Amino acid sequence: MTTQTGQVFTKVALIGVGLIGSSIAHAMRRGSLAAHIAGHSGSADTRKRAGDLGFCHSMHEDPLDATRDADLVVLCTPVGAFGQIAQAIAPALKPGAILTDVGSVKMAVLRDVGPHVPSGVHFIPGHPIAGTEHSGPESGFAELFDGRWCILTPPPGVDAVALETLSAFWRGCGSRVEIMDAKHHDLVLAITSHVPHLIAYNIVGTASDLEQVTQNEVIKFSAGGFRDFTRIASSDPTMWRDVFLNNREAVLEVLGRFSEDLARLQRAIRWGEGDMLFELFTTTRAIRRGVIEAGQDTPAPNFGRDAKKPRTTP
Ligand code: NAP
Repeated sequence: MTTQTGQVFTKVALIGVGLIGSSIAHAMRRGSLAAHIAGHSGSADTRKRAGDLGFCHSMHEDPLDATRDADLVVLCTPVGAFGQIAQAIAPALKPGAILTDVGSVKMAVLRDVGPHVPSGVHFIPGHPIAGTEHSGPESGFAELFDGRWCILTPPPGVDAVALETLSAFWRGCGSRVEIMDAKHHDLVLAITSHVPHLIAYNIVGTASDLEQVTQNEVIKFSAGGFRDFTRIASSDPTMWRDVFLNNREAVLEVLGRFSEDLARLQRAIRWGEGDMLFELFTTTRAIRRGVIEAGQDTPAPNFGRDAKKPRTTP
């Protein structure tokens, strides 16, 4: 079997078949990237749901069974579980196999998984910068990675052929691939993803706590910017708890800068410094244009939502 990238795996093991794991399975099937896709979930319910959807050729309760004979193993669970899983699957990792992951932080993955990797196995952490606020095996789709970056953070001395094989795999899933140092990844993602999620969690929490604004009004008048925060703040609690606990240093560094800048805005509003506000808002508008020009979002108003579509809430 060959593919447009020329890359084929005989067996790929997906340890975790939620949004990202199931999307990888769909993308692999679309690109004919693997002869056999084995999935693992410890939960009978998830195994049944994933089995009914049929994106894996086999589903396994024991991650060892999914991993055995695989030439690519992808950890697709919340980051906090990686260390324990790596320890459990280590005896089944075959020499020459590639072990990777999709975790949203990378230094912690090197720390937690690295010590369990047997010699002869190529360990190359990765992070597809693609996702939605949905979770579970039903939420995956083949196009999730199309045109999105996948960052690989190989440890020093990585095997060049294994790195190219994994890069070709992600290109086969539709991604563009960037190689980065793990520490730098964590800082970049702290500002572009982790702190924005924290801000969303915080503002939605604050709004729902405000005594003079009832829950009903928060929902009823959510058409402003608040609605966009609620989408982000509905993201999976386990995944995001693990992200913050495992990227503590970079998140605290960025939060410190954020708090200083927020205090500066607070001061500008208090003292009526309109020029300062105008200047900042002009700069941020240009950044939005840059995001669109880079193909990372739609130029359509309101993120392409149909304004005439009936709403379910009054
Ligand atoms: P998800 O939809 O919630 O799926 C998580 C999967 O992990 C489920 O199959 C779950 O199995 C399994 N799992 C949870 N805890 C486990 C444990 N202790 N041991 C074994 N399996 C366990 O999450 P996701 O969005 O796919 O995220 C998975 C990974 O992708 C995370 O590391 C996250 O940082 C990364 N990521 C997410 C996004 C995003 O936008 N969502 C984007 C990029 C990267 P059960 O159903 O059996 O519990």
